Amino acid sequence: MSHMNTPRPSMGAPKRTMTAQLRALANTTAVMAAIFMVLLVAFVWMVTAINSKSSSKDSDSTETTVSTSASSEGAGVVTDQTADTTPEATTTPEVSEVAHASYPEGTKLIALTFDDGPDATLTPQVLDALERNGVVATFFMIGQNVSGADASLLQRMLDLGCELGNHTWSHQILTKVSEDEAYEQLAKCDQAIEEKVGQKATVIRPPTGAGLKQEGLFRYSVDSREYVVNWNDSSCPSDWQAPALGDADYTAQYVIDHAIDGDMVLLHDSHKSTVDSLDKMIAGLKEKGYVFVTVSQLLEARVGNLTIEEAGAKGWDTSKLVEAYPGGPIYGIRYAYSSEKMIFEKKG
Ligand SMILES: [Zn+2]
Repeated sequence: MSHMNTPRPSMGAPKRTMTAQLRALANTTAVMAAIFMVLLVAFVWMVTAINSKSSSKDSDSTETTVSTSASSEGAGVVTDQTADTTPEATTTPEVSEVAHASYPEGTKLIALTFDDGPDATLTPQVLDALERNGVVATFFMIGQNVSGADASLLQRMLDLGCELGNHTWSHQILTKVSEDEAYEQLAKCDQAIEEKVGQKATVIRPPTGAGLKQEGLFRYSVDSREYVVNWNDSSCPSDWQAPALGDADYTAQYVIDHAIDGDMVLLHDSHKSTVDSLDKMIAGLKEKGYVFVTVSQLLEARVGNLTIEEAGAKGWDTSKLVEAYPGGPIYGIRYAYSSEKMIFEKKG
């Protein structure tokens, strides 16, 4: 057929035929190389897909952190796999451990807490005493008081390393209101704090310690990720009534004599005698070897995210540990701690 001959006219010399053959060979090689490249890309894509699938399975594990940090370096699949064997990868789990406060074995910890403030006159004096003695404390504040307070007062608490606590908007006893009202009381207090210093409280103490099983409190603590704590009865001087009220020496001595390791001491920055007791109280506790921490620091150091079973395995006296609410812990914990009045909760 005529068209079979048509490609021929250009091919004349043998040299040209040789070139054509070489070109054909080159074309074949190029095609094969292209196919190989496509297969290689497909293979790499598959490996990547499998890798990301397996690491997303346990999104809480350190594996994810490793692959994320590796890929953020722009290294891709190869570096990702290499990262699993690098020292950086093996040190990753320790980071979360470091995040939990730890103290040398045998260190006695104590958390001073001040409720019902802030008070324009007395709270600065409490902060003076804390600063003078180089210690920290936690302030469970009433939202209404916060609202009328100078922002610099709350800022000073933070600057001194103290912790801000939520004590409801109007010192509402939570057992006397509905679930929604309890929730609103806590949310409103946090809003007041946030308006002053740009951050909310990190712990909650219900007024008078009542209503720990209030569903609104429970729900708010979950939403806000705030611990709910009361205090230790045994070391509480009851500074709102005689004989502690009006007697700074008695107040100081009571706490010094009754404090035990891990206590949260209930005080009020609304009583002058309490403020006046602080220098002696702190000095006496220091003499007994106490290290002053915030409530969150105490909980992190002593409890972390333990379950009651794990606490028992650690050799703790779990007879005084009870779940504040029915049902197992989600990520956090729900216990009474150290005394029957000390219930706290942490949600993850
Ligand atoms: Zn109170």
